[in-house]
Amino acid sequence: MDTDVIVIGAGPAGSTAAREITNRGASVLLLDRAKFPRDKPCGGGVTIRTAELLPFSLDPVIEDTILGAHLRLRDGKNITRRHHRPITYMTQRSRLDHFLVEHAQQAGVEFRDGQPIKLVRRLPDRTFEVQARNGDVHRARVVIGADGANSIVRKNLGYEDPIESAVALEGNIAYPNGIPDHYKGQVALQFGSIPGGYGWVFPKGDHVNVGVGGWKDAVGTSLRDRLNDTCRLYGFDPADLTNLRGHHLPLGRPGALVAGGGSAVIGDAAGFVDPLSGEGIHGAISSAIHLAPVVEDYLADRVPNLAGYHHTVTRELVPNLETSRALMEIFHAWPDPFVWLLQHSDRFWNPAGELVRGEISYTRIVNRFGPLVAAALKPTAKLARLRTGRASLPRPRTGH
Ligand SMILES: Cc1cc2nc3c(=O)[nH]c(=O)nc-3n(C[C@H](O)[C@H](O)[C@H](O)COP(=O)(O)OP(=O)(O)OC[C@H]3O[C@@H](n4cnc5c(N)ncnc54)[C@H](O)[C@@H]3O)c2cc1C
Repeated sequence: MDTDVIVIGAGPAGSTAAREITNRGASVLLLDRAKFPRDKPCGGGVTIRTAELLPFSLDPVIEDTILGAHLRLRDGKNITRRHHRPITYMTQRSRLDHFLVEHAQQAGVEFRDGQPIKLVRRLPDRTFEVQARNGDVHRARVVIGADGANSIVRKNLGYEDPIESAVALEGNIAYPNGIPDHYKGQVALQFGSIPGGYGWVFPKGDHVNVGVGGWKDAVGTSLRDRLNDTCRLYGFDPADLTNLRGHHLPLGRPGALVAGGGSAVIGDAAGFVDPLSGEGIHGAISSAIHLAPVVEDYLADRVPNLAGYHHTVTRELVPNLETSRALMEIFHAWPDPFVWLLQHSDRFWNPAGELVRGEISYTRIVNRFGPLVAAALKPTAKLARLRTGRASLPRPRTGH
């Protein structure tokens, strides 16, 4: 056996899993097709709840700390709201992901970049063989798919594809002498004109990141036009956009199997993107952290498989994603009252801050509004889905 564990994909999910598992005494090989540092389509927003999952500070790669938001409904009035404590950090993925990989290497992980994997297969003795495009072949007792939205591990090992996708497109407007004061410590969010999503302006050190995202079936072909509109709305010239990047965000079926035998999928490969916000780095890092102790037990023959990871995320992560999905359906069917409440009511604005700080879950926010609201959530989400004219979700697949 080459190594105890092979992790495929060195985004936040893969580097975190590799580091956490190495810290528990296993040998880990972390493989990525890209040469690092590499960029990735992403707004680079890291919520406080996500940063607090890590045992080290992200300070070296943080470019701004967000305390508030300029909130806008379509092209209406901009209302600025603030929290008294930070809610989100701003970074660039080329910096964040490299930093996380460096921490993994310092823990003892063997990292090989420029290694596109073309095939993963389970061998009769329950170990795994991983074949790279350059002809390298690796073997391990455990294989972890952290290879993002189009995961080859998910496909090769028979895990369920996401049931839906959002898509997002973003680019940068350069400010070599510093960004406008208006955006320092503030994000701009525009709701109500992009089905299933929103437009954003995120501040960074020497540029602002402007992006749009929404339901793939509703906005897929119009993303570029919508991004241009968002630029103009905030006074930027779309011709100044550089480094344009788009990708899809996979939304998994709640409860879909994410582990079997000695394999597991984490992060985007498992579809752990928050449907309402599009935040995926939290799902990536937290699923990796949930997986590590189960891998340790499996390697020590204390458990027969990695099913414990599936059960933990089904209990700890999935219910919140399910509530987020229901809120997302409702929010996008009737955005006007919700945006107005966010703009004007502390009863809505304050919990939004607590949520991204990790002090409260979606489910607890809903419960705060009483049992009737909680009970009405799922039926209302179904109605909302009808209102937005979207097909019903596919039925769960059985077996693995
Ligand atoms: C436009 C856009 C904006 C976004 N903005 C935010 C945001 O502001 N905040 C937030 O929290 N989330 C955001 N997201 C979501 C977030 O980017 C993802 O959810 C997150 O990157 C998931 O992390 P991951 O580690 O699971 O996968 P990834 O970060 O996608 O990492 C997967 C890694 O696997 C590697 N890989 C893939 N295939 C192979 C292969 N065959 N062989 C070897 N390596 C392979 C890739 O090179 C990559 O490094 C955004 C997404 C998009 C598209």
